[in-house]
Amino acid sequence: MLNWREADFSAYTSTIAYPSKEEEERQKEAMHTAEGLVADLTAKLGHAPSCCVVTFGCQMNARDSEKIQGVLECVGFTATESEEADLVIYNTCTVRDNANQRVYGRLGHLKSMKQKNPEKRIALCGCMIQEPDVIEKLKTSYRFVDLLFGTHNIYKFPELLCKLLTKNTEDRMLIDVWKSTDAIVEDLPVVRKYPFKSGVNIMFGCDNFCTYCIVPYVRGRERSRSSREILQEVEKLAADGVVEVMLLGQNVNSYGNGLPGELTFPELLQEVEKVDGIKRIRFMTSHPKDLSDELIAVMRDSKKICRHLHLPVQSGSTEVLRKMNRRYTREQYLELVAKLRREIPDLSLTTDIIVGFPGETKEDLQQTIDLVNEVKYDNAYTFIYSPRTGTPAASYPKTMTEEEIKEGFDELLKAVQKNAQEAVLRLEGRTEEVLVEEINTHDPGLMTGRLSNNVLVHFPGDESMIGKFYTVKLTENHGFYYIGEKV
Ligand code: SF4
Repeated sequence: MLNWREADFSAYTSTIAYPSKEEEERQKEAMHTAEGLVADLTAKLGHAPSCCVVTFGCQMNARDSEKIQGVLECVGFTATESEEADLVIYNTCTVRDNANQRVYGRLGHLKSMKQKNPEKRIALCGCMIQEPDVIEKLKTSYRFVDLLFGTHNIYKFPELLCKLLTKNTEDRMLIDVWKSTDAIVEDLPVVRKYPFKSGVNIMFGCDNFCTYCIVPYVRGRERSRSSREILQEVEKLAADGVVEVMLLGQNVNSYGNGLPGELTFPELLQEVEKVDGIKRIRFMTSHPKDLSDELIAVMRDSKKICRHLHLPVQSGSTEVLRKMNRRYTREQYLELVAKLRREIPDLSLTTDIIVGFPGETKEDLQQTIDLVNEVKYDNAYTFIYSPRTGTPAASYPKTMTEEEIKEGFDELLKAVQKNAQEAVLRLEGRTEEVLVEEINTHDPGLMTGRLSNNVLVHFPGDESMIGKFYTVKLTENHGFYYIGEKV
């Protein structure tokens, strides 16, 4: 099997990095061309072509999908959630091997739909497409796919769309995957899923190389956007009615590294706080090794930064953390938590944990469970380790048996759930501010919203309340969420 490091991408990659402004103009021109092509297609089909963008994976992918959707809607596509659409794009994730299998499985269905609709076009993008063996597999076994593009050139989507729209279905698959890029292109259109909240990319890629993680290989080295561009985007969003922004990056705490004279992450947060109209600020993800005292102080003193921090620990054993290349010890992590609790007592803490990492013993796993009970997380995302081809840990030998891993995982889950329920219980009877997000999926008489600390609350209301803040009394605790009443 091909491995990233040995792969030769030269046949289908380009590494040209355009100056960003020049590239922006190129893409805007491509959008005009695409508009004309969509008008021709509309005449041929007798209706505007439909598009369906399916997102797998994390917040970064969700944000990329909004950009793809933005371009498509701007040039005349109609969005739909049905994969019967004239254009289907899978924005893929490759964090786990089974994520790849899911995509292959769904592609089978698309093939039969394409046989019935010869105008149908299928494109794949995202992290999975950055893997050379995936490209090879798609080229040989999924030849009906029309376009592949990676994570580094998503900003070229208008240009790629023009090529896709002029491609005959029997033409060879278009492949445009870059090994890396320094280019960050601003200002392409975006369609936001929610009118009142939005993600804002502040940086791309990661330099941390945790031994289990594929992200640095598929998303490339860390690069930050300029704070000027970020703040302009936030101001535009606020003018457009957005009240909550989530600053996104694989490791937001190292924002600005490598950009001389650029703001630090805490300084950037302070600037975002000054933007009128923005009422809540969230960010994701924080690497514990880079979380500074300056950031804690800014969070403590802020009126807008939400009382929630996602701080992935991954393991409670220093030895396992070393094997994972996390670059902090159990003691350092606990010290950091103690500092956070001291400075921001109402902070809600969540985390990620991997169980069954190669080299982990039952004693190590017990240390993780003890740490969960000590930190008392508000919630934790727990995963059983699965080796990711192309990462160093994929070749490490396993230590625990499947049974031991399963048993330890269940015990960990119990500890996580117990602490999560206790954390939610502490809010009972309190009156809190809720940002209403949507109509409750089970009961249309209820609205669903979130507290600053991310806990979900459902309370009676109607659609007109979406995107607004309400003061709500948290009356009924349902374990992981509340039923409340507006006061
Ligand atoms: S910090 Fe580690 S886990 Fe997170 S994206 Fe970077 S390499 Fe992956």
